[in-house]
Amino acid sequence: MLFPGINKMGRQLGLFSSGAAIFGRYRDFSICAYDGSNKKELLIRMNQSLNEQDIESLRSRYKFKKADYVAEEFTMKVEFSEIVKPYSYKKIISLTDEVIDLCLRNGIQTVNKCDNCDNQTVNYYEYNGIPLTLCSGCFSRESFKVDQARIAYSDTENNYLQGLFGSVLFSIPGIILQALLFIFLSRLGAVSSVIYCLLALYGFKIFKGKAAPLSAGFIILISQFMTVAGTIISYSGLLFYKTRDLQRVIELLSVTEIQNELRSNVILQVIISAFYLVFEFFSLRKNWTFKTLKQAEKLS
Ligand SMILES: [Zn+2]
Repeated sequence: MLFPGINKMGRQLGLFSSGAAIFGRYRDFSICAYDGSNKKELLIRMNQSLNEQDIESLRSRYKFKKADYVAEEFTMKVEFSEIVKPYSYKKIISLTDEVIDLCLRNGIQTVNKCDNCDNQTVNYYEYNGIPLTLCSGCFSRESFKVDQARIAYSDTENNYLQGLFGSVLFSIPGIILQALLFIFLSRLGAVSSVIYCLLALYGFKIFKGKAAPLSAGFIILISQFMTVAGTIISYSGLLFYKTRDLQRVIELLSVTEIQNELRSNVILQVIISAFYLVFEFFSLRKNWTFKTLKQAEKLS
């Protein structure tokens, strides 16, 4: 996501937006800028580095955190800290101008070429927020790869049941593990609910279930069901371990206090696994969300 400062800078300099970064050519130099966590970053592509004194002089006036060089060429990367308030985009523009002036004065040129080859006739694209500078040949090739991945995915069999079976099968050992955790570590056993999610997911993958929203739904349902069932089973196991009497376990399970304790254990387990499942859902989502490689939006 672009914050207002970077967006305004992009508009003022006539750059392109990938949705997560601004990039393009300004005063004929290839530049890129984006927001990080508590920082902004500016990249300027050049074929040589600036000298240390010039960088020090810029740092003392612009108070940026650091400037170093990345990638094969001398792409200068400047990091601006934003601990209390956003770093002014106007100052970033002014710094960009100063760096370009210094380059021009010292005979340093920009590197303006395709990200994949040496072709200098380029256009600006974005893929899933990633800014890409590509020539038309590389764009066609990359675009073809993206399309092929989508076609391969839609051609995959919808073998949900097979995956579902794998999830259930692989979740079963989780009950044993949960029972052991319950018996030997008592309350720490609550963490074991996450194990069901991992096992259900692993079983689904091993049995080659199709990665799709429906699969994620299955995995979530199975692991939640196993969490509840596993907690009841392992809790009963704990009672049996203490009493060594099955009849006594059945009696104890009907006592209100024990039922309340069991209920609070189940709720705790379900809450823990729910948090984990939200995280898991987002990591699964990338398996079925296919973005297109498209022309980046020109800011004006
Ligand atoms: Zn190319």
